[in-house]
Formats: sequence, structure tokens, C-alpha cells
Amino acid sequence: MDYSFTPKQEAFRAEIREFLRAEVPQDEDHGEEGFGVSEQAWQFGRRFQKKLAAKNWLVPHWPKQYGGNDMGIMEQVIMREEMSYARAPIPDIFGTNMLGPVLMLYGTEEQKRQHLPGIASAEVTWCQGYSEPGSGSDLASLQTKAVRDGDDYVINGQKIWTSNAHRADWMFMLVRTDPEAPKHKGISFLLTPTSTPGFSHRPLINMADQHGFNEVFFEDVRVPVQNLVGEENRGWYVGAALLDFERSGIGQAAASRRNLDDLVEYARQSSKNGGSNGRNETARNKLAELIIESEVGRFLAYRVGSIQARGEVPNYESSVSKGYLSELAQRVARAGVNIMGLPGQVRPESPRWAKLRGTFALAYMVTLGGTIAGGTSEIQRNIIAQRGLGLSRI
Ligand SMILES: Cc1cc2nc3c(=O)[nH]c(=O)nc-3n(C[C@H](O)[C@H](O)[C@H](O)COP(=O)(O)OP(=O)(O)OC[C@H]3O[C@@H](n4cnc5c(N)ncnc54)[C@H](O)[C@@H]3O)c2cc1C
Repeated sequence: MDYSFTPKQEAFRAEIREFLRAEVPQDEDHGEEGFGVSEQAWQFGRRFQKKLAAKNWLVPHWPKQYGGNDMGIMEQVIMREEMSYARAPIPDIFGTNMLGPVLMLYGTEEQKRQHLPGIASAEVTWCQGYSEPGSGSDLASLQTKAVRDGDDYVINGQKIWTSNAHRADWMFMLVRTDPEAPKHKGISFLLTPTSTPGFSHRPLINMADQHGFNEVFFEDVRVPVQNLVGEENRGWYVGAALLDFERSGIGQAAASRRNLDDLVEYARQSSKNGGSNGRNETARNKLAELIIESEVGRFLAYRVGSIQARGEVPNYESSVSKGYLSELAQRVARAGVNIMGLPGQVRPESPRWAKLRGTFALAYMVTLGGTIAGGTSEIQRNIIAQRGLGLSRI
């Protein structure tokens, strides 16, 4: 087994690192996950994405003809690792990592021409309309309906937990076009501008008091049939292909490592209850344990990346990485709040008292969603049990 990167990949890493050092101020919070961020952080992210686009780094994994850089999976892994460690704003993953690759596979020439340049240049942002109030883990039970009427589909129903629906220009969504068919077979994949009459959204405020996701309502929303991607009633398979991108989880591994490195530095220099944190046995043991765990997480992520780099599709390995890293992020946040004591509970909005920019108080709440979004930890464990361990379905 060879764990090293090639000299070319190491040179690429150094180039990104230098770019990030110049472009990402370290004394501000840019929103680690790209969602639920303040208007100021959102605007910083938009400007940053345009700079990435100017270097052909926004969609490095896309073919050159569509504005990408023909880069391999491991280069994407390196890039995402460096960006997350530097706390850089993460690009609009809905456009760059999900919809773009799907349009390349299933889109018509016209759809590619219409949508890919806007994503590659960071001019147009997207959101993902999959989950519904009654359909999350069991997504194929979704009920939002699209009925053909002349040259349009007319959409009625509701989506929920839609990240960025309040800021995105477009939504890609799954709708039911044949209510009589078996549940996976009556679903279609549609592209809907969020400015269409009848499209409305209501904020859902998370427990960290952030507006990241929304409820979205459709009342007779008319979308031209040209906005159907792939065949009618075959949208489930189009939607599933969305997963065909770099999904190693390396960003989360790097973000946890960054938090831990900051925490170690803090422990060295701080004291609690009259004693140095750096000499506190409990804090030392906890930090050592978490550093080991974060290294394990990094290699789980590399494993998924290297499976993809071989041209294979990771299966339960992605669930191992996703489940482990999202739970690790929660353990790191908890350790931070405990080790820092009272200052650990102060959020970034109170810079006078906040330590380490209030990262840990915020992370303590925000990381909770990580074990739900993109498939809950229970669902990941089911996948590992069935596909990884060959246990029977329950
Ligand atoms: C931060 C965040 C961002 C999100 N962004 C988006 C977005 O942009 N677009 C979008 O479409 N959705 C988004 N979601 C929604 C997310 O995909 C769903 O919340 C997730 O799939 C779980 O679905 P649910 O909330 O309906 O829970 P449910 O599926 O109802 O699950 C409820 C509980 O039951 C458990 N459970 C369910 N089925 C099983 C089973 N078979 N075996 C064992 N346990 C089970 C679950 O693990 C969970 O604990 C987001 C969610 C979060 C937290």
C-alpha cells in the first residue's frame, strides 16, 4: 500500500495553500459548510468562488470544454482538504458537484449550454429539492406532483429542509409524474427557476439561530417540459447519479483536524480552574484520542477517494466515512466546549468574550445536522450492515 501523493500532486497542494493564504482571512468565520451563513459571509463566499472560477478551480473535476480542468479525483480530494483546513467558503456544491455532472450525463445539448457555463463561472446558484415533510430517508415515497399540461408541467406540493432555497436562482427537484406506478418508477427530475410564480419559501431557523434551510411551497408552478432532465418517470435514476462525484468526506476530516489543532494551541496557552489546560490530564487524553480519530477519519476519506480514482464506485465505504466523520465532528465540538469552559460557550456574535472566534459554541449546535443531512447515521449503519457485512435486511 502506498500512502504518498505524487510530486505533481504535492506541488498542486502547495499552490492551493499559497492561494488560500492570500485569499482567506483567518480571523473571520466564513461558514464551514457554506449554509446557514450570514449575508456578509455569503457575499464573501460568492466573491471567493468567482476567484476560484477565474483560475479554473471552481469545477476542477469537470471537462475543460465545460469550464473545468480535467482534474482527477485525488486532486479534488487535495483541493477540498486544503480548502476546509483553511476554513475557505465551500463552493455551491449543488451546482458544481451535483447538477453539473448529472447534466453532462443526462442533459440535452441545450440544457448543457444553458446551465453549465453559469455554474462554472459561479454566476448562478442552485438548491436541491428532494426531501419532503413525509419523505426523507424513504425518499422514493415523495408526493410533490407534476402534471403535464400542454408544453408545461404544473407542480404542486411541498419540499422541506431545502438548503439555500432563499438564495438560489434555480432548484433541481424530484417530482411524482405517475402516481399509479411503483414508487421508484413514477418520479421525474425537473429544473425549476426559484423566481417562477407560485414558488415560495419560508425560513426554518436551526437551533444555532441560523437561516440555512427552508420549507418550499409549489402552487401551480409552471415549468416548460424542456426542463425535464432524462426521461419522464425515470428521474429516480437521474437523481441517484447525483452521487457520482467526489464524496470522500475529506472536507469534514480536514475541518475537524483544523478545529483540533486550534484547540491544542488553545490548551497550551490557557488555563481553567487555576490550572493550565495543557497540563490537565483529562484534556490531554481527550485531545490525543481525538487527534488519533481524526487521522483515522482522514484515511477513511482517502480510501473512498482512491476507490473513485480507480474508476470504481464506492459503496458501503462512503457510508463508513460519512457516518464516522459526521460523528467525529460532534465529538470534537463537545471536547472544545468542555476544555474551554465558559469561554467555549460564547458564540462569534460576541467577539469580546469569544475565544477561537466562537467556533466551538457554534459547532456544538451546527454539527448536529451533519448526522442527519445526506442520509442519517442510522441509514449509513444499515448500508454498512447490509452491503458491507452482508447482514440481512430488517
Ligand atoms: C443541515 C441539513 C441540510 C439539509 N439540506 C437538504 C437539502 O438541501 N435538500 C433536501 O432535499 N434535503 C435536505 N436535508 C434533509 C435531509 O436529507 C433529511 O433530513 C434526511 O434525509 C432525513 O430525513 P427526515 O428528516 O425525513 O427523517 P426521517 O427519514 O423521518 O427519519 C427520522 C428518524 O428515523 C430514522 N430512520 C428512518 N428510516 C430508518 C430505517 N430504515 N432504519 C433505521 N432508522 C431509520 C432516522 O435515522 C431518523 O433518526 C437537510 C437536512 C439537514 C439536517
